[in-house]
Amino acid sequence: MDNTKHSSKNKCISCTVILDYYRDGTEEEGYRCHNCYWEEEGPYMRKKDVLDLILPDYRPKKKKHNK
Ligand SMILES: [Zn+2]
Repeated sequence: MDNTKHSSKNKCISCTVILDYYRDGTEEEGYRCHNCYWEEEGPYMRKKDVLDLILPDYRPKKKKHNK
């Protein structure tokens, strides 16, 4: 009865890579992948609270975004 739970993969709202629970910590809709989260929140977080950027970057290439 719960076969809908994992049937669709949600994408990172920032780079649109498919979210992976083990990598990103969530697969829920509306979240960002690890590297996007890291880039956007990293400067505000303690190093020990967040894993390093995953390299090589698994994300699709993206255009530079304006700040
Ligand atoms: Zn992303």
